[in-house]
Amino acid sequence: MNDVAVRGGRTGATPARPGGGFILPGSCLEKTDLKDLDLEGLGRFVVQQGWEPYRAVQLMKWLFQKDLASFDQMTNLSRTFREALERVACISRLEPRDIVASEDGSSKFVFALHDGERAESVLIPEEGRVTVCVSSQVGCPLGCRFCVTGKGGFVRNLSVAEIVGQVQAVARHLDEGRRVTNVVVMGMGEPLLNMENLEPALRIFLSEHGFNLSHRRVTVSTAGIVPAMERLGRSFPVNLAVSLNATTEEARRELMPVSRKYPLAAVVDACRRYPRTSRKKITFEYVLIAGENDSLNDAVRLHALLRGIPAKINLIPYNETPHTGYRAPRLEAVKAFQDYLVKRGVHAAVRWSRGRDIGAACGQLGRPEAAVG
Ligand code: SF4
Repeated sequence: MNDVAVRGGRTGATPARPGGGFILPGSCLEKTDLKDLDLEGLGRFVVQQGWEPYRAVQLMKWLFQKDLASFDQMTNLSRTFREALERVACISRLEPRDIVASEDGSSKFVFALHDGERAESVLIPEEGRVTVCVSSQVGCPLGCRFCVTGKGGFVRNLSVAEIVGQVQAVARHLDEGRRVTNVVVMGMGEPLLNMENLEPALRIFLSEHGFNLSHRRVTVSTAGIVPAMERLGRSFPVNLAVSLNATTEEARRELMPVSRKYPLAAVVDACRRYPRTSRKKITFEYVLIAGENDSLNDAVRLHALLRGIPAKINLIPYNETPHTGYRAPRLEAVKAFQDYLVKRGVHAAVRWSRGRDIGAACGQLGRPEAAVG
């Protein structure tokens, strides 16, 4: 299915080469970074330069399937064309500055970006699948109270090249024969506040000339940006994951200030209307926090709230950190919450976050001490 180049290197705790980061060759800042362009963008670019439209497909394959960093290596392009490309375009390349391995097999990739900012991704290798969780922003403007990323505030959106570059960089470090099978846009940031760059990145992930991933294997997460959920649903048949985390308006406003703009009822309504391809469920992420949202009454309300929506609920016991005042739930509370839902036929699984020891778990990315140098 997927023939994106994802071979070579090693998995997990491979030390990254020193100085890794966002490689901008020569005067790339003044040229067009081709990795910022999806097929349509590449098509416009080549036509503007006076070249034939079919060149766009050729370039897309070299950039995203072969992961080439230099025009010289694009052997099916004429020398004249390669020289012309060199004058107006460049190919950026994201390299990890650090790779930090967790005891549970996941690894956090830390990238230094061209402007000194930082992005992080998480590699989650499992039997039969390799998932990369990518960031969409540096920091996050939504400031969910339980989230370390949100505590640091918002810096900027990641570019298309920086979003797709995370997957390519992780892929280069996989064991021989392994490839990225799943992408989840669930790292730092609110993806639906960066639609301008998320949409071309999704097109690159899904394109047969790009990463060629099935839409079943691409997931976009949101805290509930209602108008953008509608736009996403109209344009992409990808999986939607909604970070819910509360069962009353009041509790959600407390935990997630974005709820003041997009109330819980509006988010659930948008989920009800969300176009779903056959048999696809919406995933609801529910971080269980002791004394905040982990009572049996919450389970009862959650069940009622999502009635009629084909849903999968991920119950995520909170990862305690010194950066928030919140506490992890008791095991019995987690079990009782899950039991209530499961007994009523709801697909509810407890997800112990991967990468807890390395600051790569849900809500931990961007944690100051998580940067292991
Ligand atoms: S939980 Fe997600 S949306 Fe909320 S602040 Fe953290 S990164 Fe942003």
